[in-house]
Amino acid sequence: MMSDFNNKNFILNQALWLGISLAISIAISLIVPFPYSLPIIIGVFLLLSFYIRQRQYKKLGLSSATMFGNSSVNYYCMNCGAKHNQVSCPRCGSKMKRVGA
Ligand SMILES: [Zn+2]
Repeated sequence: MMSDFNNKNFILNQALWLGISLAISIAISLIVPFPYSLPIIIGVFLLLSFYIRQRQYKKLGLSSATMFGNSSVNYYCMNCGAKHNQVSCPRCGSKMKRVGA
């Protein structure tokens, strides 16, 4: 499913984010003296990696949704066991669900 172009684009994207986070950490260490800059840099890295993961998760969620769209995979509510394919359970409103055949 992943074309060569997408793969290269993904690596380029990762390199771009690495460069951005590196540039930010250098900028912080220039502005803030060393012992105080460390927690700020770690915080920025955590925020950035969280943001990147959210972006990737969104892409993965989109592709898995299209992948499972035509298959016979069923989702069951983890709270009440109702079978549904919605984001939240139509019976109890719970967003927790498990995959079942
Ligand atoms: Zn439910």
